[in-house]
Amino acid sequence: MALRKKGEFWYGTTSGDTQAELRSYSVANRHEAVRFAVSKCDCGCRTFALQTDEEAGVAIRTCTDCGQEHLMGDSASNVDEAAPEAHGCVCENDVFELVSGVSVHEGTHHVRWYYIACRCVECNLVGVFADWKCDAGDAAAFLAKV
Ligand SMILES: [Zn+2]
Ligand SMILES: [Zn+2]
Repeated sequence: MALRKKGEFWYGTTSGDTQAELRSYSVANRHEAVRFAVSKCDCGCRTFALQTDEEAGVAIRTCTDCGQEHLMGDSASNVDEAAPEAHGCVCENDVFELVSGVSVHEGTHHVRWYYIACRCVECNLVGVFADWKCDAGDAAAFLAKV
């Protein structure tokens, strides 16, 4: 399945579609995401409510199954200053599948920019809901915490 455009929004059906949208957003941002990970709760669930504060560099996902809250990526180091706001889709749903992507400093595995893309589980809208510049060390360790 490929991405489709309806009005001003893009729609997909898989996390691969979400990843494709994240990548094209990151290319436009001149920091191309090269590594990706799909969020999964400890309980195995893959759908979440999402709160973010891009200014502070904080994203919190809340599992729709067990209710566990998780600070994504490097959010734990920034959360004291943050005022996170909940995301809602244009269709008014607020449950999403989340794909994270990072760009790295050239020639290294060190995170340079963090992107969070969502796919709405109701209407299949895909888009990047938050991104911020961060120097957060090793990309694999970072993406293990999304
Ligand atoms: Zn859970
Ligand atoms: Zn939606």
